[in-house]
Amino acid sequence: QAKKDQGNSYHIYTPDLNTKAVKRLDLEHRLRRAIQNEELDVHFQPQVNIHTGDIIGAEALVRWFDPERGAISPGQFIPLAEETGLIADLGSWVIKQACCYTKQFLPHVEGDFKLAINLSAYQFKRPDQLIQELDQALLENALPAQCLELELTESMLMDNVQSTKETLKLLHHNGISLAIDDFGTGYSSLAYLKEFPIDKLKIDRSFIKDINHNKDDAAITSAVIAMAQKLGLSVLAEGVENSSQLQFLLEHNCDSMQGFYFSKALPAEEFIELLTEEQQSPDLLKGLQS
Ligand code: C2E
Ligand code: MG
Ligand code: MG
Ligand code: MG
Repeated sequence: QAKKDQGNSYHIYTPDLNTKAVKRLDLEHRLRRAIQNEELDVHFQPQVNIHTGDIIGAEALVRWFDPERGAISPGQFIPLAEETGLIADLGSWVIKQACCYTKQFLPHVEGDFKLAINLSAYQFKRPDQLIQELDQALLENALPAQCLELELTESMLMDNVQSTKETLKLLHHNGISLAIDDFGTGYSSLAYLKEFPIDKLKIDRSFIKDINHNKDDAAITSAVIAMAQKLGLSVLAEGVENSSQLQFLLEHNCDSMQGFYFSKALPAEEFIELLTEEQQSPDLLKGLQS
């Protein structure tokens, strides 16, 4: 299609070009540059023991602020990074950053602390590289493997069962914990829970959202908590936003939680401040419960 451009009739304008494909290409270009220039950031969302209120860990969540486009959500750029292979570099970078910051967090925590890292299927298909990157990041920061947790999704586990099992066994044997992210939203087979060395289930926030009003969500959540306990797994509720959700989880004996009610993901400096506050008055959650 040609469009008359105020007299410059030779100027060809193709509206089709200016659509999704171009926007996507532009975003890909920007993301590649942002990764190269280390313009991404990692924020940390605390994970809290429901019964004691202790901060037991944090989830590393990548953040991208593009100078022209502003904040772009991981829900938007992670799938793009996965499709284009950029996730390899992005994932390596997150592992390094997360370990480097964890070293700074540890002096401010008492007891166990685990830093949870989201993995993508792409990283998981290159187990040798993944293991090497994790080992190196731990070594460089003099961290024990026990302070790392990897978040996997159900679909990642179903992809290549035999080699996945080998990889998970190796990671687990080395001391790294394994959590199932968004539990309940993926593949429906539960057989893998006994096949793989899983430590924790993270109940997806879609079940927590209406837990006080929706009988099905309440039933699913309490059943998952009970099942996790019988299997000897730890169980965390994602997306806790208010005190009635917290109350439900307390009553059903869930172990831990993560959500805006306690804190959103914070820049490292603010997360350290939170840890320091907690060291001084270890009743942050009790204040919320009353
Ligand atoms: P996820 O792993 O399930 O992470 C939890 C998401 O829920 C985060 O969104 C977090 O900010 C959000 N969230 C936490 N508490 C609440 C709450 O109380 N209410 C609501 N409505 N939301 C809450 P975020 O940071 O936008 O990340 C979205 C997804 O992007 C993550 O889901 C994860 O799958 C992916 N992602 C983030 N960082 C990374 C990364 O470094 N690597 C990979 N592979 N994926 C990542
Ligand atoms: Mg996660
Ligand atoms: Mg999740
Ligand atoms: Mg989720």
